[in-house]
Amino acid sequence: MKIVTYATAAGTRLGAVAGEGVVDLTRHVPGTPGDMISLIRQWSAAKPRLTQALGGRADQVLSTIRLRAPIMRPGKILAIGLNYLDHIEETGAQRPTWPTFFAKMPTAANGPFDPIEYPAVSKELDYEAELVVVIGRRCRNVPRARAGEVIFGYCAGNDVSVRDWQKRTPQWTIGKSFDTHAPFGPWITTADEVDPHALGIRSLVNGEVRQSSNTSQMLFDCEAQIEHLSQAMTLEPGDLIFTGTPAGVGMGRHPPLYLKPGDVVRVEIDGLGAIENRVEQASGAPRIE
Ligand code: ZN
Repeated sequence: MKIVTYATAAGTRLGAVAGEGVVDLTRHVPGTPGDMISLIRQWSAAKPRLTQALGGRADQVLSTIRLRAPIMRPGKILAIGLNYLDHIEETGAQRPTWPTFFAKMPTAANGPFDPIEYPAVSKELDYEAELVVVIGRRCRNVPRARAGEVIFGYCAGNDVSVRDWQKRTPQWTIGKSFDTHAPFGPWITTADEVDPHALGIRSLVNGEVRQSSNTSQMLFDCEAQIEHLSQAMTLEPGDLIFTGTPAGVGMGRHPPLYLKPGDVVRVEIDGLGAIENRVEQASGAPRIE
């Protein structure tokens, strides 16, 4: 199943993609919660009813609705650096012994077709096409062999990176956490529909292919990442893991080629769909609410 969060005049709703249409789950299935994290928590009870509703008529035409981030405020956004061999090579880094995890703050979450901010304080804005894992169960100390049980589904994502801020200090978190810099979607494809380690993954800037690889090239696969993270922390429904990017980022080119205002960045993953975000100059003006 492919589940979307979308905006309507009456507020945000959940829907299931059916061909070119979307079935409004909130309307057709009484008791369906209005937000994705609640739905994920109730998934085993809700799934049979939702599957039945999918047989009905679509309520909306997919291309005419505004898709929001599938999970608008994830509890955690974790991300792994240096996880595709070709990307390790282009950065000049050593092949890591341990997975290199950092955090992207939840305020960076962004919709699949919403603008991404070109910061007033940077000249080095970059893209990273990534497979995103959506956690489905509250869990801790998950052995590799059981990691599949805690994966709800997958999305396409862009680990947008502010390289000058990222490289200024040994900690990457701030350079990876600017507002709008974690767009993902366009929907969540449930885990039963894809093999996450056999998917073509690409990024395009203004229609030109910049990254083109396959998720089979990951050094630490999705299960290994869950095993590792859950040794340290409880993972919860709706938490996201950005699972690393292949070669071809702007920083890896000679000379580096960064994004500029007006650029359109597309990330597409076979079987999961595509997200497309336009780069917009941020004003940098103070805002205190
Ligand atoms: Zn990344």
